[in-house]
Amino acid sequence: MTKNMFNLSKKLTSLPAYLFLEIDKAKRKAKQEGRDIIDLGIGDPDQPTPRDVIDTLYQAAQEPANHRYALDQGMPVLRQEIAGWYKNRFSIDLDPEREILPLIGSKEGIAHFPLAFIDQGDYSLVPDPCYPPYKGGTILSGGKPYLMPLVESNSFLPDLKEVPADVLKKAKLLFINYPNNPTGATAEKGFFSEVVEFARKNKIIVVSDLAYSEMAYDGYRPPSFLEVEGARDVGIEFHSLSKTYNMTGWRIGWASGNAELVSALAKVKSNIDSGIFSAIQLAGVSAIKIPQEEIKNMCSLYQRRRDVLVSGLNSLGWKVQSPKATFYLWIRVPDNTDSIKFAQLILNKSDIVVTPGVGFGRYGEGYIRMALTVSEERIEEAIGRLKKIF
Ligand SMILES: *Cc1c(COP(=O)(O)O)cnc(C)c1O
Repeated sequence: MTKNMFNLSKKLTSLPAYLFLEIDKAKRKAKQEGRDIIDLGIGDPDQPTPRDVIDTLYQAAQEPANHRYALDQGMPVLRQEIAGWYKNRFSIDLDPEREILPLIGSKEGIAHFPLAFIDQGDYSLVPDPCYPPYKGGTILSGGKPYLMPLVESNSFLPDLKEVPADVLKKAKLLFINYPNNPTGATAEKGFFSEVVEFARKNKIIVVSDLAYSEMAYDGYRPPSFLEVEGARDVGIEFHSLSKTYNMTGWRIGWASGNAELVSALAKVKSNIDSGIFSAIQLAGVSAIKIPQEEIKNMCSLYQRRRDVLVSGLNSLGWKVQSPKATFYLWIRVPDNTDSIKFAQLILNKSDIVVTPGVGFGRYGEGYIRMALTVSEERIEEAIGRLKKIF
């Protein structure tokens, strides 16, 4: 066999294709042409990071002690603040030393976690559609994602009974994400209890992604997986400051739960990174201290946008459900064309960007995702434009 120095690894080449390429290209072109694009495609808050957080970073950045390598396992003050947050929010007691690990954004933690448990040929049970790192992290670890369809008729929850016995034997991880990106679905503690039982019985580690727990509407408070009995024997949960505090660019999140799982992730990471910039950790502490009132105000802002967008789309005859949480609407493509074609159509005809569902997995086909990350005025403008073509 001839050796070629630029042949990509099998792991890299077996990653799922990036399906947003054409939409990205069309969007860039539209922007270059000076068209007035309304971008409902990005899951990134449009509001600024709270002032207190910025001020804390500014102060902490002046301090030479913060310029050095941070502690891999995160500053004690941050781990304690996170423990306090779990206690206040979910009445869960976590040991800040052993059960909490700060991360450089939760994405890296989620993507690195499989390296701790997946060997060549092992499976991860992954919902489809899903946040891409569940698949990516599994594949880069040499494992195979087994896709569990999330369908509307089962409230976008995976049907665990459908996983075949031969897959269960080789499955090491199960990913769950509620409130869910991209479907906006939520899960209750009853579902989490079923997950614990399933995990125990089949000896599978549960990876819960709680990124959207604070982004909820109409008084709804999403539960944490760790709240249910036995969860800490089988699982780890990932949370992030990104969405709640408009801090996507800052890169700070954490993992918490079973001490052995947390320490396995810490071991992987100690070979890869060297902790979060200390000034950002201190800024994270001040974010977690932000009064609940301010978070409520952010949610009210999204809730108003949600209501304007849902009622506007329904006035076009689309049948759109109002999500209880997350800032996403998961919308059945109205004319049953494929989701990429449909996204291209409304970009070309109305200068509106949406995300084609198939980009989140093949069971996302037939849907598009819209994010509530533009103002009410712009949402109204978008509805007006859609009215002209539908
Ligand atoms: C945005 C998001 C995250 C958070 O990612 P960070 O790396 O913490 O910014 C995690 N999971 C899901 C499903 C998300 O949509």
